[in-house]
Amino acid sequence: MKTILVIEDEGRIVRLIRDYLSEEGYRIIDARDGEEGLTAFERQNPDLIILDLMLPKKDGLDVAREVRKNSEVPIIMLTAKTEEVDRVTGLELGADDYMTKPFSLRELAARIKAVLRRTGGDLGKRGVIRRGELLIDTETHQVKLDGEEVDLTPTEFDLLAAMARNPGRAFTRKSLLEEIGHYPGESVKRKIDTHVKNLRKKLGSGDEPERFIETVHGVGYRFRKFEQDPE
Ligand code: CA
Repeated sequence: MKTILVIEDEGRIVRLIRDYLSEEGYRIIDARDGEEGLTAFERQNPDLIILDLMLPKKDGLDVAREVRKNSEVPIIMLTAKTEEVDRVTGLELGADDYMTKPFSLRELAARIKAVLRRTGGDLGKRGVIRRGELLIDTETHQVKLDGEEVDLTPTEFDLLAAMARNPGRAFTRKSLLEEIGHYPGESVKRKIDTHVKNLRKKLGSGDEPERFIETVHGVGYRFRKFEQDPE
């Protein structure tokens, strides 16, 4: 069953969408402001997001921008008639479609189907991690840098994916080994350091070794947190 996250502050609209789409066989979760929406997105990993433009705390454009840092999950934006300019911005930010209020629920359901079909349905869920120019597909085990495939060993791949899933978080070498299901022996430090060295080399960071993986002195490593995808 596909999960749809509805981020909308008008309870009446949420209820209408929930009733209609539940009947259509979707699981609906909802959030009433932008911040709550982002939390729900991170925790629930929905298959699609219906995102209202005008929201308390964080508006729809900011939410879309945040979501797009890490995820290709399809987004359908809800806008009022007067928000034409923002609608365009929303599409530029990576929304897949939009609907102008008031809209027909039947039309919304049709758009959802179309967007899911067009985007492969579960691209977001399939575990595509996007960080800067780096794309990590945890299902096909492919890594692309600037569109070029990078050849990694399984261990290198697992290490990279573990760190990239949690950008900005500092990992000790021991916790990294645990993340990838290897249990630390004596040579932990050396092993991880070697893998990281190789990873950095393969990620083309010759003159910029910390382009993706940063050294945290006295701790270990962390994946760099990108402000925004450079698109
Ligand atoms: Ca609203």
